[in-house]
Amino acid sequence: MSFESIEKVNLLGLSLPQLEDFFVSIGEKKFRGAQIVKWIHQQGVTNFEEMNNLSKSLRERLNQIAEVRPPKITFRGDSIDGTKKWLMEVDGGSSIETVYIPDGDRGTLCVSSQVGCSLDCSFCATGKQGFNKNLTSAEIIGQVFLAAKYFGLPIKDTQRRAITNVVMMGMGEPLLNFDPVVSSMALMMEDQAYGLSKRRVTLSTSGVVPALDRLGDVTDVALAVSLHAPNDLLRNQLVPINRKYPLLVLFNSIRNYLDGLSDGRSVTFEYTMLKGINDSDDQARELSKLISSIRCKLNLIPFNPFPGTQYEVSSRNRIYAFQRILLNDGHIVTVRKTRGDDIDAACGQLAGQVADKTKRAGRYIALRDVSQSVDGVVHR
Ligand code: SAH
Ligand code: SF4
Repeated sequence: MSFESIEKVNLLGLSLPQLEDFFVSIGEKKFRGAQIVKWIHQQGVTNFEEMNNLSKSLRERLNQIAEVRPPKITFRGDSIDGTKKWLMEVDGGSSIETVYIPDGDRGTLCVSSQVGCSLDCSFCATGKQGFNKNLTSAEIIGQVFLAAKYFGLPIKDTQRRAITNVVMMGMGEPLLNFDPVVSSMALMMEDQAYGLSKRRVTLSTSGVVPALDRLGDVTDVALAVSLHAPNDLLRNQLVPINRKYPLLVLFNSIRNYLDGLSDGRSVTFEYTMLKGINDSDDQARELSKLISSIRCKLNLIPFNPFPGTQYEVSSRNRIYAFQRILLNDGHIVTVRKTRGDDIDAACGQLAGQVADKTKRAGRYIALRDVSQSVDGVVHR
């Protein structure tokens, strides 16, 4: 790759090995990569002039050919329960959302990977919106950078850090934006950057099997898979990519990924509770059977309605009855709680704004669900 192009290279999105390559390509020593990665991701510095262990001539050179440019924050909402939501503008003018959810000694940042999504799951507002663009790695890690900077601490400081976990559960399907997602997750886990352990970075996918098959070659982050149905017939309707990669194929791919992990971790299945659609006792029993062949946890997510949806959320009692059946069979099953209602981040659907002059100018899109502990929808 040539870094000597007219457009400035955004160093924010380069992983440590990519930064080392960058410096070697401009005739500098490899160790400059580690220096810059620390300045950016541990000190939050974006101005080369402040990087005082670089020579003046190198700083000048960098000013000419490179930049450190995060997305632009256009709005921040603060919930009384501590949940925070940022609206950020990305290249092209669209906006994405990033949500922070504190929960005891854990603080989860929910990060977006695309503006919109092409997979069209029937209960997902982002899917209904269609695909707008893939985020660059600078726009993905930029969400972590800006949130970490807001909290004023290097998140590597395990004693005091505010962000303890990152989940790729914001807007978009991360496995359809493979390389930028992998580079930015590498930075999340890079000791010289954010230093999160591989158990604290989670990728959530609706089941893009060929990409999942490749994932294990390049990373070992925690895996969440959006299941939502106990059989192919129903999943074909709710999660259309299932028609291409049905449950048998998907489960094999998940098993392979788990087999490649060195520490016996399990997959987390996400299951959005839709009234009268996937929440009966029989379906709980069918689901129990389906998932018993794999090392997993199950997370039940109350559906977050959005304008125009045909679905409703299952009642609280129905969700607990469904959970009980699976618990009785020995599964680990949690129900996601709602947070940040007062800032429309609570019941966790993220919203972004799409700059698409042709069709959807200025329209808000609702995104999905947020994290281990949040769910909901943003209504505007
Ligand atoms: N595209 C990826 C990651 C983002 S979606 C995926 O599908 O896994 C994050 C989670 O939110 C997924 O489990 C998704 O199915 C769920 N979700 C989407 N729309 C929702 C809604 N309206 N209510 C509750 N959960 C929803
Ligand atoms: Fe895309 Fe995930 Fe929404 Fe499905 S649930 S449309 S994969 S963002």
